[in-house]
Amino acid sequence: MSDQLARIDAPLAPGSTIGIIGGGQLGRMLAASAARLGFATLILEPQQDCPAAQTANRQIVAAYDDSAALDEMARLCDVVTYEFENVPDASAVALQSIVPLSPPQIALTTSQDRLLEKQFLQASDIPVAPFKTVDTGAQLSAALNAFGGGVLKTRRFGYDGKGQRVFKSAECDDPDAVLAETGAGPYVLEQLVDFKSEFSIVAARSWHGEVACFEPARNEHEDGILRRSTVPSGLAAQALSEAMDIAGKLLNGLDYVGVIGIEFFETADGILVNEFAPRVHNSGHWTDTACQTSQFEQHIRAICGLPLGSADRHSDCVMENLLGDEASDIAALMHDARVSVTLYGKAQSRKGRKMGHLNRLLPLTGV
Ligand code: AMP
Repeated sequence: MSDQLARIDAPLAPGSTIGIIGGGQLGRMLAASAARLGFATLILEPQQDCPAAQTANRQIVAAYDDSAALDEMARLCDVVTYEFENVPDASAVALQSIVPLSPPQIALTTSQDRLLEKQFLQASDIPVAPFKTVDTGAQLSAALNAFGGGVLKTRRFGYDGKGQRVFKSAECDDPDAVLAETGAGPYVLEQLVDFKSEFSIVAARSWHGEVACFEPARNEHEDGILRRSTVPSGLAAQALSEAMDIAGKLLNGLDYVGVIGIEFFETADGILVNEFAPRVHNSGHWTDTACQTSQFEQHIRAICGLPLGSADRHSDCVMENLLGDEASDIAALMHDARVSVTLYGKAQSRKGRKMGHLNRLLPLTGV
């Protein structure tokens, strides 16, 4: 195996096969968009009949680090992508020398570890909340005292508010126990950000370095889970242009190919990046009905060496996640004719589980 990265020299022809690591709803919607453009898709996912396999051509049922499965995937696919950021690093390394892998492994590795991510952002002059690394209970106490509180986060494998603990003050009786309850270390403690709003940008970069940003969406979370994304975001013009600049800087700095999701805080003193995900993003689902090109099609175009589509928005839109039982009565959801419903084909509903989403389109008012 060489250190040379496999690259795409020319746009992939219709009928080519796209490999997707991960079998969740993002893979499902990517596979549907790929099919629309005439591509075949192959999913690598250990869970049989996963949401993505239902819209893809084929599934390899195996673990994400199964070397025989990865070899098979590389042999059968013309390009490989992924729909979640916890793809094992060794799998990405193994794949990328034999088949083009997009987004690049550096984006994956950086986003998997909150410390690496923050260091990368800082080195790129992108503002983040002040933070301290925490490996021990004593370091947690010291960091809490320094910030007068904060948000403790595991460096790896946190999502939807899992692996996190909020401290409104420096008080912490048993820091060692808190670390153990929060999840496996190491950790970072971030200063508590007094944000006016949370928003995100979904943007894409092609093999040729062309960049297209969707408009920012304002995001509302409940219990750490995204509840709603709204466009227009109502963001001040300066914050909007700064966020677009940051997206371009990040994409170019990572020599990125594909769609990225970047989450921001808007504060009284400016904007901060919270984190980025090297994949299509829940807060970009509104693009599916409110833009000429959806984030899913944009990702497929980018990774297949095709020109990016227009990211312009033709309607205002509110995207709401359907959690747990909220997706059980699809007919009721459809009573509002402006609503389009997307379900993820998950057999089991659980409290807080993302079962689908709806997009409510409204006439275009402005940015
Ligand atoms: P994350 O997993 O980093 O996206 O965090 C989940 C949610 O926790 C964010 O969307 C915010 O609502 C909240 N949060 C995360 N970090 C901070 C912070 N440093 N200050 C205040 N709220 C935060």
